[in-house]
Amino acid sequence: MPMAGFIKVIAGEMFSGKSTELARLVERALIAGLPVQVLVPAFSHRGSLRDVDERLARLVGRWTIVPVPDGAAERLDELVDRDALVVAVDEAQFFDRHLVTHCRRWRAEGRQVLVAGLDMDYREQPFGAMGDLMCIANEVVKVHAVCTRCRQADAFISHRLSAESAQVVVGEHNYTALCGDCYRAEGAAGIGYTRSMP
Ligand SMILES: [Zn+2]
Repeated sequence: MPMAGFIKVIAGEMFSGKSTELARLVERALIAGLPVQVLVPAFSHRGSLRDVDERLARLVGRWTIVPVPDGAAERLDELVDRDALVVAVDEAQFFDRHLVTHCRRWRAEGRQVLVAGLDMDYREQPFGAMGDLMCIANEVVKVHAVCTRCRQADAFISHRLSAESAQVVVGEHNYTALCGDCYRAEGAAGIGYTRSMP
């Protein structure tokens, strides 16, 4: 029986648990016996193991991680197996807009498409194709860390701790999760906020 395809997007700031939620959904699919491919942009996959690798490593079933060169979504046709019934994408904000077309087609083919990514960059702007992906999704879930400054409100943005101004600066140590009020307060104060963990 063919499956009904769908697109589910998990969006949020850094440290909000997006990869944990993605791994939870992948685990569900594996228990259901579905073959899974997890796509990650190659440049953010280099070096140390990322969250999603560690979380997936303990799962049993047919899954593979596919690093996509330079996040180039154009090449996804050749990289994704025909029999992958679940296509999961982590760090989707780093892919170009071709990802939107591919996700829509995978859904039409009856696949389950799971997409996790940052909704906004550190300047509060929609990140990459995430906005479009959220529009075409069947379901969107926003997850949130707790603000590391007031330690009360839900965080909503990844605040950059370094002075670099490029949109993409990889490295969790460069960011902290802040709520809206704290983000504006830190923006007014300029760079220099240092995270102090309890
Ligand atoms: Zn706060």
